[in-house]
Amino acid sequence: MRNEEVAGAELADGASRHADDSRGSGRRLMQSSTPIYDLVVIGSGMAGLAAARYAVDNGLENVVVVEGRERIGGRTFTVPLNISLPADAPAPAAIDLGAAWIHGVGNANTAPNPMVSLSTKAGLPVLKVTARDESFGPQGLPDSDAWDKAYTAMSEEFPDYLERYADGDVASMRPNDRDSVNNVLGRFVAERRPPLTQLQKDALIQYVQTEFVLEYADDLSQLSARYIYEDRNWGGPDALPGRGFSALVRHLSAGLDIRLRSKVDVLDYSFTRPEAQRRYVLVSGTNTSTGRPFTLAAKYVINTMPLGYLQAQLTKPAPNLFRPALRPAQSAAIMSFGMGLLQKVILVWPDASWWEELITTPWVAIRNPAQPGAFSEYYNLAATPAELPVLICFNGGSIARNVEASMNDSAIVSRALAPLQRLLAPSGRRLPPPAQALVTRWGADPWTRGAYSFIKAGARANARAAAFAPLAGGRLLFAGEHTHADYPSTVHGAYLSGLGAAEAVVDALADR
Ligand SMILES: Cc1cc2nc3c(=O)[nH]c(=O)nc-3n(C[C@H](O)[C@H](O)[C@H](O)COP(=O)(O)OP(=O)(O)OC[C@H]3O[C@@H](n4cnc5c(N)ncnc54)[C@H](O)[C@@H]3O)c2cc1C
Repeated sequence: MRNEEVAGAELADGASRHADDSRGSGRRLMQSSTPIYDLVVIGSGMAGLAAARYAVDNGLENVVVVEGRERIGGRTFTVPLNISLPADAPAPAAIDLGAAWIHGVGNANTAPNPMVSLSTKAGLPVLKVTARDESFGPQGLPDSDAWDKAYTAMSEEFPDYLERYADGDVASMRPNDRDSVNNVLGRFVAERRPPLTQLQKDALIQYVQTEFVLEYADDLSQLSARYIYEDRNWGGPDALPGRGFSALVRHLSAGLDIRLRSKVDVLDYSFTRPEAQRRYVLVSGTNTSTGRPFTLAAKYVINTMPLGYLQAQLTKPAPNLFRPALRPAQSAAIMSFGMGLLQKVILVWPDASWWEELITTPWVAIRNPAQPGAFSEYYNLAATPAELPVLICFNGGSIARNVEASMNDSAIVSRALAPLQRLLAPSGRRLPPPAQALVTRWGADPWTRGAYSFIKAGARANARAAAFAPLAGGRLLFAGEHTHADYPSTVHGAYLSGLGAAEAVVDALADR
């Protein structure tokens, strides 16, 4: 791109500070009153906001966040519920459509989870939860002790086998990047002595659907067996952010220069080419309300576009997000990761009276042998410190993709209600209709195209370093949950990735 094009594009308004660089196109940009940003952050999710916050708090004055949506927060999004709660209710009538739990608040061996620290700083409550669960059979009756015993055995034996496989301790199956969890599951079943009973097989299927498909948000055939346990747990119990994740996001965003409805289309880092006349990354895009183009020039750019979004760009017939195009090895590394899908069907009643005595734990499984894992796992917010009259039904992986693609909201809600009606059947009661129902569709969401990343069978865990290596000598960096080696797929991983990238920028600018 030539300098004139920069001057001719619609430029960011309001910024009055200009770069002190007087060489090459920097001079031209100054002359045309184009602000040269120290840092442009793409995306206002947890990673982007953490990056911008850190940069501003550490002295960078010239920082802007560009966000394609009309709201901040990305995959954290708390919405109000249409119910009124008693004045002394412990949590507001609101629900998180995306991330909901702080995974591991920390324990004696770890620092507090960054989301806990952020909550403390913001004066926001954190509600610790337990993972207690109960399970009902397909007819709505509580599962037998024999079932519980089989389930407990499988929940110990299979993860143990999978870990031994990854450590190279399963003689018949050497660890291989291409192996999926499904392959190892097959071997486990074949080698188990004595052979699994039918009850144990059923319990194993129920266990893997809950602990793998919903946890990693994709099918067993997609999940890498070798690297499934590569990510780390923060430690300590999980918690709910007491006012929802959006309250944390609002706190982080205070005072930042955020441009909403600004869709970035091209990241031009061609200045690294010998013939280039300028020293800036150009961020070009479109204002989605007005349709007008914009171009921002930045010394540093942190790109937090989600993995699903990046992959969709890279697989276009003529990819043009990156100029110059990414090297094939980097592009292939990005494509080698998986973007899973988790769907929530949020069912809200005025109060929890109809189920309070029936379901007493936060987690509830209502088994569905006809289609294991489909509309079968529920989270009961009434049994958490939030005490909300809400049940959330989850679908994951290809089940969630098929449901999103083929069913309308009312059909999805009916499917999620049917197992609950079965719980009431033994007592002859009818399920009261919910006051409100919300269905998430993160797979169809054009800004993320999925819920969160996972290591796909065939990928290498350490491919993250190659996939998200900074470009342009460190001027164009990647951040976001998908880039964090230890805590991918989480809000705190996203946050830490943003901090890490911003720290690199602040340090580099200080050294110049
Ligand atoms: C249903 C669901 C449940 C989850 N549950 C949990 C949980 O309980 N606990 C947990 O820790 N994590 C959970 N996660 C994962 C967690 O939400 C994410 O890991 C985290 O929020 C990702 O933050 P991020 O900043 O990396 O990405 P995002 O939040 O997706 O932010 C990226 C931003 O970039 C913007 N963007 C994309 N393309 C462009 C473009 N071209 N131009 C401008 N802007 C663009 C997007 O609009 C978005 O705002 C869940 C996610 C989902 C979807």
